[in-house]
Amino acid sequence: MGAQIQDLRIDFRIRIAPAEVLERSVRCFLVLGERACVVDSGVSGSERMILEAVERAGRAPGDVTSLVLTHSHPDHMGGAAALRRATSCRVMVHGAEVRWAQEPDAQCRDRPVPGFETLVHEGVAIDRELRDAEVVPLGADDRLKVLHTPGHSPGSICLLHEATGTIFTGDAVPVPGELPIYDDALGSMGSLKRLLELKGVRRICPAWGEPAEGEAVRAMIEAGMRAISTTHELVRDELGRDPSLGREDLCRKCTLALGLPPHIAGPLLARTFEAHRRALMSGFQRLC
Ligand SMILES: [Zn+2]
Repeated sequence: MGAQIQDLRIDFRIRIAPAEVLERSVRCFLVLGERACVVDSGVSGSERMILEAVERAGRAPGDVTSLVLTHSHPDHMGGAAALRRATSCRVMVHGAEVRWAQEPDAQCRDRPVPGFETLVHEGVAIDRELRDAEVVPLGADDRLKVLHTPGHSPGSICLLHEATGTIFTGDAVPVPGELPIYDDALGSMGSLKRLLELKGVRRICPAWGEPAEGEAVRAMIEAGMRAISTTHELVRDELGRDPSLGREDLCRKCTLALGLPPHIAGPLLARTFEAHRRALMSGFQRLC
């Protein structure tokens, strides 16, 4: 019997200022083969929705043998420790994300996110460190293949379920009009090029936005590449006008130029624009 894939949209709110709340959502996925695998675990408390979905699918918590985190950001690992306790699953993440997954306090210091402490309450023990091209077994002839796709974060991975031609992309594909969030602009672009070249992909399941099929898969990845290029040109133009622009001023100007609300300009977005500054300083006037 082939594996079934179910997606779960988890809505949550981040308080970014005393009177300012940001409405966000993130998707987790259940891959139900002989064994069940959960891809990402949402924010703290999401384990309840995930376990209800497992039950609705006629499976027991003990059928969940693995939780694979596409990366360690708080909206992907918030429910991980509770899910591990409830199912005894093995938790897996790329080696470059282990510290942040196990030590959220360290992550919060390294990469402050508004409302971090409401999104993740505890770290999760990592049972297996993943590397590019490794596989997560789901049953006989059924597996998820790991693709290391750095950029959004150093150890971001995508997972290819070859049996159904489904790629789980976490936050690797930027969404035009949404917040551009990545630590490495060049790395992000390279990872998207790699995704475009994959053979046999029929469905894309991102953590942001809606899953898409057929021609829309390529369109979604290409739109992500254009979003990175547009941001790069913006940063290049701003720094061309004033090469001495500091981190906060560059962030504020680029946030406005992208048509994003001014209150969004903060340390998280500043990381993205600084990633473009580094690419420019390395001589990349264009990214594709
Ligand atoms: Zn993320």
